[in-house]
Amino acid sequence: MPSRPLRPCTNPGCPELVKQGRCAKHTQQAEQQRGSSSQRGYDARWARRRADYLYRHPWCVLCGRPSKVPDHFPVSRKDLVAQGVADPDADVHLRPLCVPCHSSETARHQPGGWNAR
Ligand SMILES: [Zn+2]
Ligand SMILES: [Zn+2]
Repeated sequence: MPSRPLRPCTNPGCPELVKQGRCAKHTQQAEQQRGSSSQRGYDARWARRRADYLYRHPWCVLCGRPSKVPDHFPVSRKDLVAQGVADPDADVHLRPLCVPCHSSETARHQPGGWNAR
């Protein structure tokens, strides 16, 4: 049985010889890049929606200072996604907060926040 010749990894410049495609290192790297580019797409969409939301909700609901952060409330975005909510970033799932209020709320509600013991 003739053994298949090894070819260099398809990543340009990589000297690693493989049966096909990329070497293990570059396969992993390609997957990570895909992940981060979809994360960038989400970030860009969310940045637009955040700006739009804050334009319509300009004041912090807790202290009345200018709002800076749409906070997922009362259910966290992670839980909304876990519940299969179609649009976890819709207005009904958000409340406007200023940065100091958001920091203290986050610290209070998330285990592992800076003041968690
Ligand atoms: Zn490679
Ligand atoms: Zn506030």
